[in-house]
Amino acid sequence: MTRVRLLVFNPVLNVLDYRLPDGVAAEAGSVVIAPLGPRQVLGIVWEPERLAGAEVPEARLRPILEVLPVPPFPAALRRLIEWTADYYCAPMNAVARMALGSMAALRGGGTATEYRLTGLEPKRLTPQRAAALDALHGEQASIRELADLASVSEGVLRGMVAAGLLEPVTVDLDRPYARANPLHAAPDLSPDQQAAADRFVAAVADQAFAPFLLDGVTGSGKTECYFEAVAEAIRLGRQVLVLLPEIALTQNFLRRFEARFGVPPVLWHSSLKQSERRRAWRAIVHGDAQVVVGARSALFMPFARLGLIVVDEAHEVSFKQDDGVRYNARDVAVIRAKFERIPVILASATPALESLQLAEAGVYEKVDLPARFGGAELPAIEVVDLRVEAPERGHWLAPRLVAELKDRLARGEQSLLFLNRRGYAPLTLCRHCGYRFQCPNCSAWLVEHRLSRRLACHHCGHEVPVPAECPECHTPDCLVACGPGVERIADEVAEVLPGARIAVVTSDTLNSPDKIGAFVAAAEGKAIDVIVGTQLVTKGYHFPELTLVGVVDADLGLEGGDLRAGERTYQQIAQVAGRAGRGEKPGEVLIQTRHPEAAVIAALAAGDRDAFYEAEAEARREAGAPPFGRWAAIIVSSEDEAEAREAARAIGGARPDLPDVMVLGPAPAPMALLRGRYRYRLLINARRSAQVQDVIRDWLGALTFPPGVRVAIDIDPYSF
Ligand code: ADP
Ligand code: ZN
Repeated sequence: MTRVRLLVFNPVLNVLDYRLPDGVAAEAGSVVIAPLGPRQVLGIVWEPERLAGAEVPEARLRPILEVLPVPPFPAALRRLIEWTADYYCAPMNAVARMALGSMAALRGGGTATEYRLTGLEPKRLTPQRAAALDALHGEQASIRELADLASVSEGVLRGMVAAGLLEPVTVDLDRPYARANPLHAAPDLSPDQQAAADRFVAAVADQAFAPFLLDGVTGSGKTECYFEAVAEAIRLGRQVLVLLPEIALTQNFLRRFEARFGVPPVLWHSSLKQSERRRAWRAIVHGDAQVVVGARSALFMPFARLGLIVVDEAHEVSFKQDDGVRYNARDVAVIRAKFERIPVILASATPALESLQLAEAGVYEKVDLPARFGGAELPAIEVVDLRVEAPERGHWLAPRLVAELKDRLARGEQSLLFLNRRGYAPLTLCRHCGYRFQCPNCSAWLVEHRLSRRLACHHCGHEVPVPAECPECHTPDCLVACGPGVERIADEVAEVLPGARIAVVTSDTLNSPDKIGAFVAAAEGKAIDVIVGTQLVTKGYHFPELTLVGVVDADLGLEGGDLRAGERTYQQIAQVAGRAGRGEKPGEVLIQTRHPEAAVIAALAAGDRDAFYEAEAEARREAGAPPFGRWAAIIVSSEDEAEAREAARAIGGARPDLPDVMVLGPAPAPMALLRGRYRYRLLINARRSAQVQDVIRDWLGALTFPPGVRVAIDIDPYSF
């Protein structure tokens, strides 16, 4: 009899032993189905010596039901799952679940059934059928996805299938992706680019662990450099994973990739339709997907022959996941490369201080691209002191910025105004009684969105139409908008530049690949004069006619005592400034601020990156912050305020007394109410050498909490 240990996908149980029936073969990493009580669970066969669990007596072992016909999880991936669970104090099965990607892909065969309209005229047209006929034109997807698209029930669609209005289509999930050609359109590289590319190509050919920090100013041509490494991996028949911080950036990337390699890469992100997910997952695990481009969730995919990982815009905050398993994809990418014994390239114009320090310490090999490609100059940066050059009342653009905008419009050049705030105004209040619109579920104001005439919470999605009167004092027409969002800035631009063609670019307006594509085409085709956007436009884009960037409020990100406020502000402004003057015409940047003396602003104005990093390093050293010390957070939440407070106090009361670990709090978390849950937080500041995870596990492991309480651990938190 063969005993096997399983990592099981059950929220309560993690590890269980089973018996392998005679004649059934399974090895470490095999994905199996096993009985659990009256139900069935998915599990992964694990080495018993690496997975502690209670010993089940031999007589009580139940047999595994089925070994799924997918390649076993490779050892390097199993080690990655163990490492991630251990480092981030997360359950191993929660980490492993990210590697499964598509559950349907595991059990299903090589085909899927989708449905599309037949074009038949309905004999009986209910309002729902009419809506579905309208919404589903040109679509093909599963019944469930079509029901979502058309906002009707699945029952309505099944009725339409029976009536012959929708027809099934069999989709072949194993149809191959077009092969990328490494020689398709290889560019002539500049000498700096060539030197960088040579290092990467050699490392890919070596197939040994080699972490790189590709540090190049905006517009230096980092993408072309790492494309050479991608080309080498393709030549060697190895797979490549490219992680991008945001799906909004992929359109631009896809075009460049296709121009270079002749075909698009394989995409992996959460909004793929199910058949695309299944197809991509199968191609990844069987080694047929050559280059996979994805958001952070692609990092745990079971690649068959991974040969290179690239993390582009590696400094981006969105690589940090803030719920479920709270991991940082940038850091885990390096660990994965280590276990896989392959190179990893972190590319950025504004690396995180942690990455720079690791490069300086020789842990990462630093590869520099000091100049823009093609001799383009970095833009000149000037500061507009809003205390001296104040905008007009009720306006947000200083006279100098307005004058520059007019100048660009007259010359037929483009401008970009950056403000990291969606919507029209961040706060709406009643001028009569002072009532403020607040989210019922979160500690946050409701943001007015004038385009959609709604007040929305940016944390939980709660929305209400803008009312005609104050809900408190019932005075009609009494609401005033306070402060600007991008929509309001766009209004101001329309006022001062009559006739200018303005595009508002946020995740509200560019919420589909088609819309992003249309925006990029319009911007490149000189059909837009002024772009007003959030951080969505700060990176990736290359608009040759764009010569002016205005930062509407540089102080926005510096408010609040966030550990990374300085670094994030520096990165955002440097990135958005990097959009200017990428073509033949030189660029100019105006930064509006009330704090020109702040280290970040001064360094940006002086074009002195080193000065910023030195000041930042000094501040972090003093605070014992990363990379000099370590932080962790414990977040306690409950729908019941008193229950959350009590649990946080209990944790605080049991705090360990150790010389190299300091505990702060508990105190209400910065978002003290989020999605209907009250939140308290304890912060742990430790020496670098401290075993923070072990300390936290011992500390919390001895405590029990009521069922409504959730305790989340955040190792290396990004913001607090
Ligand atoms: P970065 O990512 O470093 O900001 P990009 O990779 O976007 O820079 O490159 C800036 C621009 O220069 C892009 O339009 C890119 O196509 C172009 N470019 C870079 N390197 C080359 C090259 N070797 N040959 C032709 N064009 C290049
Ligand atoms: Zn909310």
